[in-house]
Amino acid sequence: MIDPFGRAITYLRISVTDRCDFRCVYCMAENMTFLPKRDLLTLEELDRLATTFVEKGVRKLRLTGGEPLVRRNIMHLIRSLSRHLGTGALDELTITTNGSQLERFAAELADCGVKRINVSLDTLNPDKFKEITRWGNFAKVMAGIDAAQAAGIRVKLNAVALKGFNDDEIPSMLEWAHGRGMDMTLIETMPLGEIDGDRTDQYLPLSAVRAGLSERFTLTDIPYKTGGPARYVEVEETGGRLGFITPLTHNFCESCNRVRLTCTGTLYMCLGQEDAADLRTPLRASEGNELLSNAIDEAIGRKPEGHDFIIDRETRKPAVSRHMSVTGG
Ligand code: SAM
Repeated sequence: MIDPFGRAITYLRISVTDRCDFRCVYCMAENMTFLPKRDLLTLEELDRLATTFVEKGVRKLRLTGGEPLVRRNIMHLIRSLSRHLGTGALDELTITTNGSQLERFAAELADCGVKRINVSLDTLNPDKFKEITRWGNFAKVMAGIDAAQAAGIRVKLNAVALKGFNDDEIPSMLEWAHGRGMDMTLIETMPLGEIDGDRTDQYLPLSAVRAGLSERFTLTDIPYKTGGPARYVEVEETGGRLGFITPLTHNFCESCNRVRLTCTGTLYMCLGQEDAADLRTPLRASEGNELLSNAIDEAIGRKPEGHDFIIDRETRKPAVSRHMSVTGG
């Protein structure tokens, strides 16, 4: 699948549920309305869709959410999709998780061929963790990370950089993560979805974070890539890697290789744009995959050149109205 700008689409992210057991303040409102269960694709339908993408050239699948591990019977889907690792059609099957259910699932994930995962964690302070996630249990997440590492899964920490919340903690998080053999990536807040607070207060440009870290650590740019938009540095003092994902200060669209599927079968060709394609209708219209395949081609043909995130200081409205939990970041 090659889009109009010559980019090969080899990476599919699937939000398998919009539900989550956390309510991170920058991501969701506390009283979110979730999709009625009947609107969700079944696990079999998600499998069929993902498999069609794999047949069309996708080499990397990431399940996200909402929280992917709270979808009922999610391990059936992961187990089933792992067959594509066995045939060599897929290079990587992975998840992005808040870690809350990892203690339960880590061993099985490893058994399904999941080799590395991203765990989202914005603070190492249990009180602050409660404040930012509203509903999260810090000890459970720590136990989840332990379980993943014990199962031999490589963990990367993803932290959203939030002004006045975790900026002072980033150096110690970095030392902690690297001390445990985990890479870490910092993410800027993106203006997605209505939340309760004001995003312009939270926005912290990573250029400033990097400048601050440079006073303490020796950061060297490295060409390391994980198939995502992060730019990596090596931290000499810790020997670990630190990634920066900067959608607002740096446009990384020129190398975008991904599309995002929601749990209702809607395909978003860009995280920062509203345009989407309905794949549920062609999926359900016939048992064969021809209609679906055509609809995917048509959608890839509309993938935009790039996104245009801005946090509008006048209206305070998000640039894109859907929540991050729809597409999973
Ligand atoms: N529940 C899983 C998790 O916690 O990783 C997967 C879904 S979550 C939406 C994926 C990532 O998006 C998390 O790292 C979260 O911190 C991040 N995220 C959510 N809303 C965001 C926003 N407005 N700006 C930047 N990152 C955001």
